[in-house]
Amino acid sequence: MRRALFFAASITLAVSTASAQAPEARKLDWGAIAQETQQILQDYLRINTTNPPGNEMKTALFLKSLLEKEGFEVQLFDSTELGAGRVNLYTRLKGNGSKKAIALVHHMDVVPAAPQFWDVDPFSGTVKDGYVWGRGALDMKGEGSAHLMAMIALKRAGVQLNRDIVFIANSDEELSSTGAIVFVKNHPDLLKDVEFLVTEGGDNLVTDGKLHYFGIGVAEKRTFWQRVSVKGVPSHGSRPTKQNPVPKLVAALNRIANYETPLHVTPGVDKFFRDIARMYPEPRKTWLSNVTLALKNPAAKDWILSDIYWNAILRNTISLTGLSGSNKTNVIPPEATAEIDIRLLPDQNPADMLATLKRLAADTAVHFETILPPKTPLESPTNSDFFHAIEKAAHDRDPNVFVTTPMLTGATDRPSYQKVGIKAYGLDPFKVEKADAQRGVHGNNERLSVENVGFGVRYLYDILRYAQ
Ligand SMILES: [Zn+2]
Repeated sequence: MRRALFFAASITLAVSTASAQAPEARKLDWGAIAQETQQILQDYLRINTTNPPGNEMKTALFLKSLLEKEGFEVQLFDSTELGAGRVNLYTRLKGNGSKKAIALVHHMDVVPAAPQFWDVDPFSGTVKDGYVWGRGALDMKGEGSAHLMAMIALKRAGVQLNRDIVFIANSDEELSSTGAIVFVKNHPDLLKDVEFLVTEGGDNLVTDGKLHYFGIGVAEKRTFWQRVSVKGVPSHGSRPTKQNPVPKLVAALNRIANYETPLHVTPGVDKFFRDIARMYPEPRKTWLSNVTLALKNPAAKDWILSDIYWNAILRNTISLTGLSGSNKTNVIPPEATAEIDIRLLPDQNPADMLATLKRLAADTAVHFETILPPKTPLESPTNSDFFHAIEKAAHDRDPNVFVTTPMLTGATDRPSYQKVGIKAYGLDPFKVEKADAQRGVHGNNERLSVENVGFGVRYLYDILRYAQ
């Protein structure tokens, strides 16, 4: 029954648009491919790429040998810039070149794991209770394994490709994104024909086993971190002076902390709220259908901003985080400093934010220094062939579930690639329970269900076929 619907849908598409799914020369055994992907993920998780130091060379050699067995020509790059034991991996599945390429990009490094808080060894790749467990299962060796096997499956099935499929595995995303930055800088020739790119940064919403929507990441906020400092004259704490930098810094920070950034609805966020409105009863449905209007209604505004994610996609945010003064109670220090985590909406100007901070500080003794400059603003189109291919593959899986575009409040490597004209999307091929993602990503007991492994590789395979 499902198959019949599937074919009916693809015939309609063939008639209505030029981009019909590319034909397969050979049928695939999807049960076997799911098992193979699971084995790859388990082996991948067993290689410890905690960053720092990363040691991604080990995983790159692992991926290289898998790809070479399938007849791919693999190149390892950028060790000079990235340092010993670190590397970027690149390969390509050739199409007929009539359309531009699609790149599958993931990072090989993971954040540290504290084994005492885990139920299993975070680097054991254990399968237990229907899940593959390990640091990186969700962020993002699971996605990397799905990218790898979806591309291998296209090759094995002999799918006629109009677009080359490019596979890139980067070092060092988690600390400073240097892997992607160096790759883009050193290899413009390998990227010049790439039109679309997928990596992390899209979230599907699943709660209590129910899929509410497929999320495609088309926008992310821009980090604009500041160090704030005040210099003073060191002296003994027993005799207070006017040159103590600590009270000056505290007064400025207090004004910044009490400042409410203006609300601002970007087109992508407006669409996201309109899309999800159907999930709510009245009057909330009406409020979300026009969030700009709702923010003028106090009851609606209170409810909307009480959600910390919604609040963060409706404004620039300022979080005071680091703070330091004297390391001795009885010493007035020569300097007091603080760090501020600022996240800008994609269409906002960093210089305006800096001017606001200076106005709030209202003290020329307070200095601001940018410690993480904003990346290229990311807003990828929702009307591209590739976006439509994702929508179609999603609807095949569940015609009742909609596709929407939640903005990411964190940061990914997408802006580095967007900078050279590539349309970059965040795509999570798995249906991960919200609670699992919240606990596991950068936390403890990170795991991906065995069912999701098979689901993800086939979903990605279909997206790549539909995007031809
Ligand atoms: Zn990640």
